[in-house]
Formats: sequence, C-alpha cells, structure tokens
Amino acid sequence: MGKRAYNFNAGPAALPLEVLERAQAEFVEFQGTGMSIMEMSHRGAVYESVHNEAQERLLKLLGNPSGYKTLFLQGGASTQFATIPMNLLTAGKTAGYVMTGSWASKAAKEAKLIGDIYTAASAEGDKFTRMPSQSEIEVRENAAYVHITSNETIEGTQFAEYPDTGSVPLIADLSSDIFCRPLDIEKFGMIYAGAQKNLGPSGVTVVIAKEELLAREAKNIPTVFRYSTHLSNNSLYNTPPSFSIYMVNQTLRWIEEQGGLEGVQEKNNAKAKLLYDAIDGSGGFYSGVAQTDSRSIMNVTFRLGSEELEKAFAKESEQQGFVGLKGHRSVGGLRASIYNAVPHASVAALVDFMSDFQKRNG
Ligand code: PLP
Repeated sequence: MGKRAYNFNAGPAALPLEVLERAQAEFVEFQGTGMSIMEMSHRGAVYESVHNEAQERLLKLLGNPSGYKTLFLQGGASTQFATIPMNLLTAGKTAGYVMTGSWASKAAKEAKLIGDIYTAASAEGDKFTRMPSQSEIEVRENAAYVHITSNETIEGTQFAEYPDTGSVPLIADLSSDIFCRPLDIEKFGMIYAGAQKNLGPSGVTVVIAKEELLAREAKNIPTVFRYSTHLSNNSLYNTPPSFSIYMVNQTLRWIEEQGGLEGVQEKNNAKAKLLYDAIDGSGGFYSGVAQTDSRSIMNVTFRLGSEELEKAFAKESEQQGFVGLKGHRSVGGLRASIYNAVPHASVAALVDFMSDFQKRNG
C-alpha cells in the first residue's frame, strides 16, 4: 500500500486505517457466506445481526440510556433539516433555532418552509465566531423543540457545554462532532448526524432520540418521512444503506478499542491543542477564527495576513501531501478538519509544515 495522505478533509473525511483494512479483508466474502455484505438481503439474519449490532454499539457508547432509540436513515443530515419539523413542528407550535453559522442557517431555512420558527439566539453579530451561552437562549413555552448545531463545520466553532432547555426537547445536529467526546444524551430529545465524518462513510444518517418523539404518528406526511415508520420497522422499512451501516458498525468497534468516548476525547484534545498552540504561538502569523472558548476540536479554522499568503499556503501544503486545508468557499481562510480518525502524526506533520511555511514567509 502507498503512503496514506495527510487527510484534513471536512467531509467525507478520513476513516481509521484499521477499519478500512478490516472491511477490505471481508469485502468480497463476508464471514464464510460466499458473498459480500453488500450482496445480501437486508431481510436475512446475517445482515440483520450487523444492523442490530451497530444500533447496540451506538447506545452502548452512550451508556445504554433508557427510553432512547436509534434510526438509520438516508438523505443526509440535510434531509433531517426538513424531517424534524415535518414530524415534530405541529400546528400551534413554534420551534427555536439557535443561529450559529452556515449549518444552523440551513436547518432553520428548511424548518421555515414547514412551520413557525423563531431565533432562540444568534451569534451573527459576532460573525459566527462563538457559540451562544445559556443565558442568551430563549426557550418559549409553546416551542416543540429548540434546535442547535453542536459544531459548525465551516466556521470552526463548537459548544463546550450544551444549553439546558428545560422541558422543551433539545435537538442537535452533531454531524461534524458526534462521538468526538463523551455525550450526555439525556440532555437531548434528539441528536442526528450524517455518518461521513466521525462514524463511517456517507450514505447513512444516524438519529438517536427519545422514543416518544420518534413514535409520534405524523399521518399528514408521506410514510417514508415519518420517524414512526422507521421506528416500528427497525430502520428496515425499505432497503437500508447496508454497506454504510456495516462500516458504521466497524467504526464504532474501533471507537470502543480507542477506550470509548473518553479515549477518543483524550486523543482529540491532544491533537487540537497541538494545532491551536501552533496558531497561538506564531506571533500573529497565523490567527484562529473562533473565539477561544468556542473553538472546535474537530474543525480548526485559521487565517494568514493576506489572501495571497493563504493561497500560497493552500497550494504548497497540497504539494507536500496535505489534503483539504483550504477553508470553505463561503468564508475563505484555512481549515484543518481533525476528526477522530485523523492520526496525531498527521497533525504533528501539519504543525511542522506551518512552522516551515512561516520561516519562509514570515
Ligand atoms: N450539518 C453539519 C454540521 C454538517 O457539517 C453537514 C455537512 O458537512 C451537514 C449538516 C449536511 O450533511 P449532509 O451532507 O449529510 O446532508
């Protein structure tokens, strides 16, 4: 095998090498069955045991909370932006959206097409460089839920602590930071995430929610968009993205092997510290975009003194084998996505490159 790239892509993103190798070993023939997992009926016992194992692992990593169920859905997190209000934003209710950046805005835009929403808090005044604090968040009595974006992938901000919304369910998009650290699921009515950053390849969206939210019968919406349909069919109402779910199961097994969520958190904190220390210690050559207490440990956004320098950094880093460091086109700058599967050595190599680049251009 050739050298693995220093992969800092924002998504789809790096997968653990061990996961890829294990999948490769059983790619053509899955455990003596004479076929690939992809070729199997999703109604058969072999596939179903993988499917169920992945769900069990998700809940086990969260401490097996009672009353919570998981769903495997398709259409990405973007589809959840619409299906959440379709299922939960009933007549006479409103929903609060905490506006923290690009992804929160997209979620709110979709919900607005379905029902009444309000801005529960906004960090727009600070150009989305921080996450709102508890005291800023307005929870209305007639809110069906309050929605937050746990980690803004584009801006590079992350909630250090989640708000308490009392009896109103808190719903969170964890697409870009699920399982990067321990999670107290009991604070949430629902969390959801596209798998393609910390959980596996694209193609499956994970929803973990209180059963009472998923069980609601939304008879006015098409069957396939109802959570209750997928809940009562164990996410096998129609053909599931079976290979992606198999890969999620492998990735969850790998997380267990890292020491669970505490284990990955320790590694993630060390990687993030290495990178932020390099930025902060550069004497202003590099500057972090996010305010310190809202810095993401998954997407590290930073800038250089000019767009020319940023262009040169992006180009030279690419030539030296670093992938995906250019910031999102909507905000510019640079971004290193350091999800669970990005090895510490890749971040160390990046920090070396940054120091070298500064010597030549500072
Ligand atoms: N939410 C967040 C925080 C994201 O980072 C992304 C994708 O990058 C999405 C939602 C959209 O996910 P999908 O492409 O699975 O629809």
